[in-house]
Amino acid sequence: MKDIKSMTLSELTDELVDMGEAGFRARQVYTWLHGGVTDFAQMSNLSKSLRQKLAQRYDITAPKVARKQVSQLDGTVKYLWELRDGNCIETVLMRYHHGNTVCISTQVGCRMGCRFCASTVAGKVRDLTPSEMLDQVLFSQLDSGMPISNIVLMGIGEPTDNLDNVLRFLDLVNSPEGLNIGMRHISLSTCGVVPGIERLAELGLQLTLSVSLHAPDSPTRSRIMPVNNAYDVEELFDACHRYFRKTGRRISFEYAMIDGVNDSDEQADLLARKLRGMPAHVNLIPLNDVVESAFKPSRRVAAFQKRLESHGVTATVRRSLGGDIDASCGQLRRRAMQERAGRSEKEGSEEA
Ligand code: SAH
Repeated sequence: MKDIKSMTLSELTDELVDMGEAGFRARQVYTWLHGGVTDFAQMSNLSKSLRQKLAQRYDITAPKVARKQVSQLDGTVKYLWELRDGNCIETVLMRYHHGNTVCISTQVGCRMGCRFCASTVAGKVRDLTPSEMLDQVLFSQLDSGMPISNIVLMGIGEPTDNLDNVLRFLDLVNSPEGLNIGMRHISLSTCGVVPGIERLAELGLQLTLSVSLHAPDSPTRSRIMPVNNAYDVEELFDACHRYFRKTGRRISFEYAMIDGVNDSDEQADLLARKLRGMPAHVNLIPLNDVVESAFKPSRRVAAFQKRLESHGVTATVRRSLGGDIDASCGQLRRRAMQERAGRSEKEGSEEA
């Protein structure tokens, strides 16, 4: 069975025309799908026979809420979804003054290996389909009743490691017949995969590129991010400069502050030098303490920010949301996996 929600409207139109249907039927089906309908039987403006034909050929994805946490502090909602094959992924819904923002996952797990990140501890299991990315937006909006105006691809996974599906997802979520979320309301975050950045530059999409930099010098960056061994920080800065020249879009640099690793004044000075000639925004992130990691949060966040600003670099400190609900970076999935493993160990020992 084909995954109907991963199809663009024009592909769906071709399919229906091939089935001998009028082209406008595709728009009707597409509108139902993007409104969150999960059963062809509910598509009441289609004939019964067409609904049956569709149900024989196509599958409609619909994740189940495996767990939901709501922050008492700021209303952040975190979903753990169970996909059809039993895998789980996370989505976080945050309330900001400028609108509600959803942070979605692009893969089940991640193979990039950043040393401070919980999402990558158990490696990558598989890529998400475009429909599974769309579903995170669709169903967190439907379940929470919070209209979503912004999307960040900053959940579990590396978007450039699943770029074809990510681009197709962007087409879906951007379409006027669907959720109609503008590219300028979407951010894509990468750990620095240079060919991915280049492909995005070629496409010239109006989304915001976020680069997880975390260190301005190669020795430090290699220590915390294995991707730096494939594309080192000099190549990465070159790609960023080209990206800016090509798209005219300001890049946002993520920088998680780690105690004694990347938080010195010298590193702030070097970072400012590397960014010269390109309007950039540095987002300083207080490191989330991940149990599996030896790294600790820096105590120099404010000093580092001041130092960057003294060089004329715009730097903000990311406000931490959902502090009471494991709301970041694969922590909920990690915990659910551990609980599941613990349960099966226990079940195993009871059997023994
Ligand atoms: N793979 C993409 C997107 C997912 S990670 C990327 O690397 O950009 C989203 C952001 O969270 C990245 O900037 C990542 O480096 C950061 N991050 C991961 N673990 C973190 C932690 N323990 N504390 C703070 N930020 C973290």
